[in-house]
Amino acid sequence: MLDKKIVDLINLQINKEFYSSFFYMDMANYYTDQSLNGFANWFNIQTQEEYAHAMLFVQYLQLNGEKVVLEAIAKPMVEFKDHKHPLVAAYDHELMVTRSINDIYAVAFDQKDFKTMQFLDWFVKEQAEEEQNVDEMIKRYDLFGTDARGLYMLDQELGQRTYAPPTLTL
Ligand code: MG
Repeated sequence: MLDKKIVDLINLQINKEFYSSFFYMDMANYYTDQSLNGFANWFNIQTQEEYAHAMLFVQYLQLNGEKVVLEAIAKPMVEFKDHKHPLVAAYDHELMVTRSINDIYAVAFDQKDFKTMQFLDWFVKEQAEEEQNVDEMIKRYDLFGTDARGLYMLDQELGQRTYAPPTLTL
């Protein structure tokens, strides 16, 4: 059994992860419209990852005999002003998700809920990686993406990304 506060926060987190999945799908669709299929591929994989994160939180509640409460998923961003815009928005979004996971961690810590802390450890590490990955994308875009040939090569490279399921199993 988990504390009600933890259950509520995890239910909110489930919504945030599903929203993240939507948010990245919106970006993937933007890049598809721009014929940047590699960027689209990269963001479509983000979409799958975020869905998998949501499902891990769902499973965690269920394994602890708690009820999953699904809420409406907010409409994603829609308007992007240039090719760099989704990258910056993705970075800001990941910072928000990191804060959100840290907030759950802080409550678990206060309550000496070591089980939840251990579960969240994977997400803490994952968020550090997500931030690094997007930060690197922005830096590489700034270096190469503003030139047509560089953008083409970056797009080719991002097209190579393949989906790997989360390493965390419950
Ligand atoms: Mg996530």
